[in-house]
Amino acid sequence: MKLDDLQAVADLASDYLKLHNPPKVVIKDIRRGWCHGNYVVIPQFAEKYSEAYQIYYAVHEVIHCVVSGHGPRFKAVERAILALWDIIPTYAKAYPKYLHNAAGQELHKSWREKRKEQKRVTQTIQMTPIV
Ligand SMILES: [Zn+2]
Repeated sequence: MKLDDLQAVADLASDYLKLHNPPKVVIKDIRRGWCHGNYVVIPQFAEKYSEAYQIYYAVHEVIHCVVSGHGPRFKAVERAILALWDIIPTYAKAYPKYLHNAAGQELHKSWREKRKEQKRVTQTIQMTPIV
């Protein structure tokens, strides 16, 4: 997604949160995103992932402008805003391991889940007897 698209996502999330000063989105070559003052910083690597993940990332950081931590309140707000894009998170701890839509289609899978699945596949291959 381009910067303008991410800004549009952040603007809609800001509307939902009734922010008086909607944050400006900046893309930077950093490891993690954050919100500080009137800026939301999205790491450049996010662009390698699905559109759903990038929307999730922008929404997540905008919420951090008003809610710190990843407690039940944060997650409830995140779920409500992501629903505007038909994105449903399944949480591991702080972050979702999956993003689905209402039709059950998978939109994103975390690298941790991918690695777990890869291990399962490898184990299945190793346990299959050769005949
Ligand atoms: Zn966070």
